[in-house]
Amino acid sequence: MNKDKMHEYLDRCSKCGGCQAACPLYSETQMEPLVARGKLCLMQNYLKGDLELSPKMLELMSFCLLCKSCTEQCPNSIPVDKLVLSMRQEIAEQKGISFVKKNAFQHLLQNNGRLTMAAKLAYLYQHSGLQWLVRKTNILGLLGGDLSSKEKMLPSMAKTPFRTQVPERLTTSNSRLRVGYFTGCLTNYIFEETGHAVLQVLKNHHVEVVIPEQWCCGVPALASGDEQTAVQLAQRNIEAFQKAGVDVIITDCASCGSMLLEYDDLVGSKAAKAFADKSMDFSQLLADVIDFNPGDKEVRMSVTFHDPCHLKRGQGVSDAPRKLIRSLPGVAFREMKDSDRCCGAAGSFNITHYDLAKKVGHTKARNIIDSGAQAVITECPSCIMQMRHMLEREGAPIQVLHLAELISKTY
Ligand code: SF4
Ligand code: SF4
Repeated sequence: MNKDKMHEYLDRCSKCGGCQAACPLYSETQMEPLVARGKLCLMQNYLKGDLELSPKMLELMSFCLLCKSCTEQCPNSIPVDKLVLSMRQEIAEQKGISFVKKNAFQHLLQNNGRLTMAAKLAYLYQHSGLQWLVRKTNILGLLGGDLSSKEKMLPSMAKTPFRTQVPERLTTSNSRLRVGYFTGCLTNYIFEETGHAVLQVLKNHHVEVVIPEQWCCGVPALASGDEQTAVQLAQRNIEAFQKAGVDVIITDCASCGSMLLEYDDLVGSKAAKAFADKSMDFSQLLADVIDFNPGDKEVRMSVTFHDPCHLKRGQGVSDAPRKLIRSLPGVAFREMKDSDRCCGAAGSFNITHYDLAKKVGHTKARNIIDSGAQAVITECPSCIMQMRHMLEREGAPIQVLHLAELISKTY
């Protein structure tokens, strides 16, 4: 967003404070600079030249879940998350990006070979006995801070990436649709079971699936102000799926899905628009495009659903997953309180701001527990990681599953 557009949106804020009740960070901290009104005021003063990009300012701009809850409540429809992203881009241009992030975005996200190598090292750490030793000796705890808690969030890595376990093209007899599957990094390197469940469900619906070589959707880079890397990744993905010649593109990750829809604005080409127009969430494909047929096996489980921010507010999808869940044999659906309230994951927010994310996640965990459900279903691997961690902290034996995994249980 250019500075004129930023000014235009910032001038729209009437300082009504309607965003306070919606902001999960404000609810937990009662701190004005963390709510949309406070952030917009800081940005306005910076753009007027009354404030500098001080370390405090940089820190405050990092305090946002980009959850869009404030925008949903704002009477003036101010796109706060987009303004925060523009401000982070300004910070990246003026102050640069940290050495670690710069290298991760430019040398890992853009290179699947290196990313796979990094995932393998994490797998080796978990399976060589080193992780056991680290936990047993509590060495990270002795170093101080919350490193030890953060380490416990690392889920089991897949032994080999999901995309290397399956063929690039899965054909089926009397195929009625060719679906491109954008797997996202977390499904590829960690949640392989979600990827296999998605394929099982699609196979049962007689659609052809193509999984071309693909790259990170670009969200981590964009959220840190590195728009250039995000654009480069988007261009690679657009080209890969264009070559695959698919009718629709689906993803099982709400954050990736929301980003894929943004490719049109981000890249601004005809091919990017065609890509975004074809993109949709896994649940939308089943509920709205093809006739959904669950299997006959009764699941006998009570479940609730957590709306990822980037599914409900990012893509406007909330009915489709509920419709699918309610149609599953044996499944009892229980709506939880504030099902669309952010769980605190927000990409890497739960790692960079662990304590605050823990408070936001605690509220989510309580709502899940109070629903009385045996499992919480969602459609975002990042939310799955956060909710598993938070429910474990609460000592609640509640399963956290991707929607595709729940559906696959009926076959
Ligand atoms: S709700 Fe919108 S207009 Fe009101 S203070 Fe918040 S951002 Fe400004
Ligand atoms: S996007 Fe979410 S975390 Fe950020 S200011 Fe708005 S409500 Fe608060």
